[in-house]
Amino acid sequence: MEKTIERTFVMIKPDGVQRGLIGEILKRFESAGLKIVGLKMVKATKNMVEEFYPKDKEWFETIGQKTTKAYQEAGLSIQETFGTTNLEEIGKIIKKWLVDFIVSGPVVAMVLEGNHAIMKVRNIVGYTDPFAAAPGTIRGDLTTDSIALGNIMARAVVNVIHASSSQKDAEKEISIWFEKKELMSYKRCDEDIILGRFLK
Ligand code: UDP
Ligand code: MG
Repeated sequence: MEKTIERTFVMIKPDGVQRGLIGEILKRFESAGLKIVGLKMVKATKNMVEEFYPKDKEWFETIGQKTTKAYQEAGLSIQETFGTTNLEEIGKIIKKWLVDFIVSGPVVAMVLEGNHAIMKVRNIVGYTDPFAAAPGTIRGDLTTDSIALGNIMARAVVNVIHASSSQKDAEKEISIWFEKKELMSYKRCDEDIILGRFLK
């Protein structure tokens, strides 16, 4: 397979399923030329979701940073909501909220394959905080929730969808949600165009 052809993991979160957005979301990926090679509806367990989201210091701090940024921009006090300004501790509190959110209802798990699929899908999905996500992206177009409101309500931001962030994450995430035999190989009609075969 060409080196730029990648596989990535995507999950439509419980809010996306409950709001009837599965078709809209699949349409956006299919229209962009991404091939669905695995697809199923799952009611995830707490253990599975805890394993799925990272537990390294760096990831907790990234979450803490995103929340701190959103709070500062909204003129709100991190200390008042979280009782701390330590980024790692804030990240750990949010992960608990996040796990509760993901197990609250069925999700749709999928594996998408395509040229630069990991970054391409992240671009289609948009920034974590729907309030700051660009119009045209799934998070920018399909919800008005925000990190700040999530924190005030002591819950995760309800942002419709998850997508892998790197090659390493994609491999780990695909292996958590899918068995090898559940991933399909087939040809999309437009592959000849992207792979330049129409020139031959
Ligand atoms: N999250 C949150 N508050 C935050 C940061 C993250 O509720 O301040 C939730 C949100 O649902 C997000 C998930 O945690 O999608 C994972 O966070 P990450 O930084 O990995 O964002 P993503 O990769 O989903 O954009
Ligand atoms: Mg992430």
